[in-house]
Amino acid sequence: MPPGWGNENCSLTSFRLRDGRGWLCWRHVGHSPSWLADDLSISGVRDRAGKVKKVVGISGLGVVFAAVVWRSRVSSLFSANYLPHRFCYLAQPGLIWTNTLSDSLIALAYGLLVVCLLWIAVRLRRVPPFQEYLWIFLSFAVFIAACAATHLMEVVTVWWPVYPLSAAVKVLCAGAAILTAILFGRATPALAAKIPWVMNALSTTQQERDEARAALLASEKILAERMRADVEIAAANARMNHILDSSREAILKIGTDWIVSYGNLRATEILPDLVVGSDFWGCFPALAGTQAERCIRRTMDEHTPTNYEIFYEPYGEWYGVSVFPTPGGVSLFCSPITAQKKLEEQLQRERAEAFEQINSVMDSTAEGIVKLGHDWSILYGNRVAREILPDLVVGKSYWECFPAVKGTASEHMLRQVMEKRKDAEWENFYEPYHEWYAVHTYPTAGGVSLFFIPITRRKNLEAQLETERMLREKRIEALSIMAGGLAHEISNPLAIIHGTASDLQRMALSGLPMSPDEVLKASESIVNTSDRAHRILRGLKGFGREAGKDPMEYASVYEIIDQAIEMQEARFERHQVALRTELAPELPLVLCRETQIGQIVTNLVNNSLDAITQQDCPERWVSVEASRSGDNVQIDVVDSGLGIDEESRKRLMEPFFTTKTRGLGMGVGLSLSRAIANEHGGSLELCQGMTHTCFRLLLPINSSEPGSLMATGVVHETH
Ligand code: ADP
Repeated sequence: MPPGWGNENCSLTSFRLRDGRGWLCWRHVGHSPSWLADDLSISGVRDRAGKVKKVVGISGLGVVFAAVVWRSRVSSLFSANYLPHRFCYLAQPGLIWTNTLSDSLIALAYGLLVVCLLWIAVRLRRVPPFQEYLWIFLSFAVFIAACAATHLMEVVTVWWPVYPLSAAVKVLCAGAAILTAILFGRATPALAAKIPWVMNALSTTQQERDEARAALLASEKILAERMRADVEIAAANARMNHILDSSREAILKIGTDWIVSYGNLRATEILPDLVVGSDFWGCFPALAGTQAERCIRRTMDEHTPTNYEIFYEPYGEWYGVSVFPTPGGVSLFCSPITAQKKLEEQLQRERAEAFEQINSVMDSTAEGIVKLGHDWSILYGNRVAREILPDLVVGKSYWECFPAVKGTASEHMLRQVMEKRKDAEWENFYEPYHEWYAVHTYPTAGGVSLFFIPITRRKNLEAQLETERMLREKRIEALSIMAGGLAHEISNPLAIIHGTASDLQRMALSGLPMSPDEVLKASESIVNTSDRAHRILRGLKGFGREAGKDPMEYASVYEIIDQAIEMQEARFERHQVALRTELAPELPLVLCRETQIGQIVTNLVNNSLDAITQQDCPERWVSVEASRSGDNVQIDVVDSGLGIDEESRKRLMEPFFTTKTRGLGMGVGLSLSRAIANEHGGSLELCQGMTHTCFRLLLPINSSEPGSLMATGVVHETH
C-alpha cells in the first residue's frame, strides 16, 4: 500500500487493476466517532445552549474533516486514470486465485451463518422472553447476508465485469450494515445487562443455572436500582426546576469564569439581557464599578455571602440582591424592589415630617425634655434642654455629659426609674450650673424620659419666705422673752411722769408758789422720762414689724446698739448681769435696714445673756463693742460665758441648731442673723482664739455716705 493511504479510522484492505479499471475496498478499523460519544454526553447536560454549541462545533469539525478527506482521497476515485487501478492484483494469477478462493469461502461461511441465525430466530419466535430479541437475530442475518453477497460479487466480477451490480449490492450491504450497527449499538447496554439472563437460559447444568440466576438477580437489582435512581434524579431535577421556576426571585448561577450557567424562569422575565452561557458582565455592563460588582466579586473571592440593593439604570428598577458562594462560582437571588423602595421613601418622608412636627411641639414647650436609652445614652434633647443644659450632647452617655450628677440623690432616682419602670419626681441642685431643677422622670420604651424646669427663682423665693417666716417667729420669741421686762421698762417712766405731773398739778391747784427752777426740773424730768419710754416703744415697734422690705437707709450704729440694749436692760438687771458698751467715737453712718441690724444685735446679746445665766458663770457681764475696721464697722458682742464646745462651733450657723432647752430657743437666730449680714454685704462670725466668747458683725461702709457722723461714742453700763 502506498504511503499516506488510510488514517486512524480507515485503511485500504486491497486493490487490483483490471482493464484499466479498479476498485477500492475500505475497511472500518477505528473507533466510534467522537461526536457520537460527545452527543451522548451532551444529552445529559441540562444546558441546552451549551449542548447546541457543542453539536455545532463538532459538526463543523466533521465537515472540515470530510472536505479534507474528499479532496485528498475520495475525489481521485472519479478519475479513470487513477494510478492505483493499474496495480489491482498486480496482474498475478496467484493473487487472483487467492482472493477469489478466499472471497468464495467467506461468502460460503457467511451464508451458513445466515442460515443458523434464521434457524435460531424461527425456533425462538414462540419463546416469550426471546420474542423481543428476535430482531437482533434477523438484523444480524441481514447484515451477514449482505457481507456474503459482497464477497460473492468479488468472485463474480473476476469473470463477469458486472461492476454496477457489484456496486449496487455493496450500497445495499452498506445500508444494512449501518442499520444493524445503529440498532445494535443502541441496544448494547440493555443487552449487556441481560447477559446473565441469557447465560441462565443457555446453561445446562444445575450449578451453572444457579450461578447464572444469582448473577441475573444481582444485575437485575442493580439495573432496577439504577433505573429507579435515574427516574428519581430526573423527577428531583424536574421538581427542583419547577420550584426554581416558580420562585418570585430571579435565581442565577455564575461560574468562576463569570459565565452564566443557569437562570430560572423569573430571571429571564425580569432580566431581559440575561443570556445563559454568556459572560455575566457582558450581559449587564452597567454594573461595572458599582456596589453590585464589588459585592459579587467579594463573594466570589472570599466565599462570603453579601447583600446589596441597587438601582439598575438601564431597566429603571431597584433590585435587592443576595449573593451566595456555591461550588464552582456564585448564586444570585435577585428581586425587584422598586415598589417597596418607593414605599420606604414615602414612609421616610412621612416619618421625617411627623418627627418635624413632634419636634416643633417639643421645642415649643417651656420644659426641657431629654430621652435616655437603656444604656444611658442621650437619644434626644428638645430646644429648651439644649439651651439650659449646654453640656447635653445627643449620642453621648448621660453620665459623661453630667458627671456631677454621679453619687447624688438624682442618680439614685434615675436608676430607680430605669429599673423599676415607675415614674418619679424630685428637685435637684446641679452644682456646675448653680441651678435648681424640678425633674419628672417617666419610664418610656427603650429607656426613660426626663422633663425638667429650672426652679432656682422659685427656690430662692421659697428660701426668702422661709427666712421671713423664721424671722417672724424669732421676733415673737424675742418679744415673749422681753415682755416681762418691757412692762417694767414702760411702767417705770410712766410712774415717774405721772408722779411729777401730779406734783405740778397739786401745787397749781393749792395755789402754792412755784419757782421757775422747780417747774423746769419737773418738766425736764417728764421730758427725759417720756423720751426714754418713747425710745423703748420705738424699738418695740421695729420688732413687731416685717423689716425685710424696708428701704436701705443710712443709720447710726450708736442708735441701733442703744435701742437694742435698752430693751434688754430690765432682763440683765433681773439676772444680775452687767451689760456694757464700748463704742468708738465718730463711727460713720451705715447703709442698712436699721431694724434688721438691731435684731442681729438683740439676738447676739440675748444669746450671751442665756449663756451666762444657763451656765451659772461666776463672771457675769456682756460687752457690746463697736469700732471701725478697714472699710467696715465692726460690732463685737463679747460675754463672760464658759464658751462653746468644738462640736457646737461647727454647727452654730445651721438653721435649727440649738443647745437650749425647749421653749427657750428655736436654733434659727444665728443662721438668720448671718443671712441678714450677708444680705447687707457684711458678715457674722464666731471669733476664734479669744479668751471670751465673741461674735463679730461686720457691716460695709458705703463710700458715698452722707457726711454726718455721730459726735462721740458712749460708754454705757447697766447694773
Ligand atoms: P437659739 O438661740 O434659738 O438656740 P441661735 O442660732 O441663736 O439659736 O443659737 C444657736 C446656738 O448657739 C445656741 O443654742 C447656743 O448653743 C449657741 N450659742 C449662741 N451664742 C452663744 C454664746 N454667746 N455662748 C454660748 N453659746 C452660744
